[in-house]
Amino acid sequence: DVTQLRVGLGERSYDIVIGPGLLEEAGARIAALRAGARVGIVTDRNVAERHLGPVEASLRQAGLSPTAIVIEPGEKSKSFHVFEQVVDELLAARIERRDLVLALGGGVVGDLAGFAAAALRRGVDFVQAPTSLLAQVDSSVGGKTGINSRHGKNLVGAFHQPILVLADSLALDTLPLREFRAGYAEVAKYGLIDNAPFFGWLERRWQDVFGGGPARIEAIATSCASKAAVVARDEKETGDRALLNLGHTFGHALEAGAGFSQRLLHGEAVAIGMAQAFRFSARQGLCAAADAERVTAHLRTVGLPTRIADIPGELPDTDGLMELIAQDKKVSRGALTFLLARGIGESFIARDVEPAAVRTFLDSER
Ligand code: NAD
Ligand code: ZN
Repeated sequence: DVTQLRVGLGERSYDIVIGPGLLEEAGARIAALRAGARVGIVTDRNVAERHLGPVEASLRQAGLSPTAIVIEPGEKSKSFHVFEQVVDELLAARIERRDLVLALGGGVVGDLAGFAAAALRRGVDFVQAPTSLLAQVDSSVGGKTGINSRHGKNLVGAFHQPILVLADSLALDTLPLREFRAGYAEVAKYGLIDNAPFFGWLERRWQDVFGGGPARIEAIATSCASKAAVVARDEKETGDRALLNLGHTFGHALEAGAGFSQRLLHGEAVAIGMAQAFRFSARQGLCAAADAERVTAHLRTVGLPTRIADIPGELPDTDGLMELIAQDKKVSRGALTFLLARGIGESFIARDVEPAAVRTFLDSER
């Protein structure tokens, strides 16, 4: 019941392995690539409490030498300050060019540890062991690593592909339900972008995906394959990769409006953003109203928010949201670029969207 995908090109290709119990097999799988290496494990406190012990034991048993670096959980750790601490600790652990960094955790750990690996001694190989659903289906695939700056999120980083991704489907059993749901929004996104059969499958099987077992593994594998395919077409994000931003233009504005706080997780913002992208598309006459209703209904069924009103607390008014949308990086020369849809699985990049139409739509949404 282990699924394996080979992604990337030629020498830089690597395996994404998805299945139950992979954290306990991490040692054998990593030693097969780099016998005897020192391994700097970067993880956060929540993940360390639940999963670090077995990983360290597995590495030792396979003849590897692990050193654990445990950071505080949360987006705040994607900072220059924590980056410096992690790099210092990796150097203190004498991680050299032939050694490895292992990112054990969610997207925060993956982005930070991946960037530390990219910078350490001008580049040390790294392995991703993503432990959140979002990290398994999104952040561990594609090679983007980095940290935040006072000027914004993810503004400092590098493209650095892992040599192996180990996605342990059982590790998600300890993930808080709210975090699982937020990651599920990105899973649904892949169906909405270009895979209508997958979205239909999710409508029928989502409870099995939440419950664990083979359906969960299948959903993760399909998601990774979708992202890998888009990334392979467009690694440095000049064109097609923008499709992965479905729901993210409205979503980012809402996240920013909520102050990037626990009030609204990224995946929750994406859920609202995707529902809005479909409702906006329907209103523009691009897609059937029934499709927009189907998207909203499914996201609501799994417990995700789909409307601005679902966000607790105050949010900026339409003018404020328009300003936040305009600040988003996907805006070029005044015109708004949105990911819109002609139907489920038929998303496309719409340039030159009229700001006035967006404003009218947002007003109608409140
Ligand atoms: P996260 O890493 O903060 O994890 C969410 C929470 O779950 C944290 O509190 C973490 O400690 C906890 N956690 C993780 N795994 C757990 C487990 N198995 N059991 C119990 N608790 C667990 O956040 P995330 O949602 O995984 O990732 C978000 C980050 O990913 C953001 O910084 C975002 O910018 C980044 N991201 C990067 C890319 C990329 O391409 N590099 C893509 C999407 C998102
Ligand atoms: Zn996202």
